[in-house]
Amino acid sequence: MAAAGLDPARLKAILVSHEHRDHVAGVGVAARMWNIPVYLNPSTLEATNGILGRFEHRLFSTGEELVVGDLEIHPFSQSHDAADPAGFTFRHKDAKIGVATDLGAATALVREHLAGCRALVLEANHDPDMLMNGPYPWHLKTRVRGRKGHLSNHDSAELLVQIADRDLRQVVLAHLSEVNNLPELALECIGSALTPSSRGFGLIAACQRTPGPVFEL
Ligand SMILES: [Zn+2]
Ligand SMILES: [Zn+2]
Repeated sequence: MAAAGLDPARLKAILVSHEHRDHVAGVGVAARMWNIPVYLNPSTLEATNGILGRFEHRLFSTGEELVVGDLEIHPFSQSHDAADPAGFTFRHKDAKIGVATDLGAATALVREHLAGCRALVLEANHDPDMLMNGPYPWHLKTRVRGRKGHLSNHDSAELLVQIADRDLRQVVLAHLSEVNNLPELALECIGSALTPSSRGFGLIAACQRTPGPVFEL
């Protein structure tokens, strides 16, 4: 956030989607340092099993709306190998943003929630050939490509073809594997799946180590 010129002290909430380490490792420290309440569902809280240390938590139920400041937030269920994994949409007046990473399948529920968004942060985790020919052990390859794993570039393209409409202005591809994917491959796969008429939005791939641009929606 500092690199993007943003002040973490302005944050009013941290939302935890699920308990996997790549999503919670910094949560306890950040919450304590800037006094930010952490929102998570009961199963995720239980599954973090004390690794976050002491923090102020507020529980939500997946499937039920919560309100933080001016935002209406809808957590929805995702298919992933965690206790109660959630994606989120955020609504402010007529603008809606969807965030969905860590899902093995784009279910009807996921499509329903992500439809009509102005901006989407969407998983494009792996290129299937890179995954299968790469260094991961077999059980991990099976896990990643399974229904409770992660969306491939192709899965992500297929989902976008189904939900992209005139309201959509920006898509950020996220949760790209550094081992099993390349930003160029993800952008090419998804860009080429969309016809020019369904491609009225900006498309970028997020990087794990540097912040991307700030979007005004
Ligand atoms: Zn995960
Ligand atoms: Zn993850």
